[in-house]
Amino acid sequence: MESKPKSQDLSCQKFRQMASEYLEGTLGPRVSWKFNYHGERCKGCGAFAATLQATISVLRSLPSLEAPEELKRRIREEYLRGSSDVGPGV
Ligand SMILES: [Zn+2]
Repeated sequence: MESKPKSQDLSCQKFRQMASEYLEGTLGPRVSWKFNYHGERCKGCGAFAATLQATISVLRSLPSLEAPEELKRRIREEYLRGSSDVGPGV
């Protein structure tokens, strides 16, 4: 019995489980191929992958997350200092 299962296709559930790994580039080439194969044939999963990919690229294009944190702290310090300077009586 020499019947290789022609199951190149993934289940939708599997596809979605693999999506983040795929986008992180941690899937091997063969698995990535299967992933693409399903994504191209399954509208729902294709849209899912596109959305996820867009989200990830936005996240990656953002500057380091430490900057806003630092900025917030500086603003808060400035604000606290400022509000005591500009207190009533000035
Ligand atoms: Zn699917």
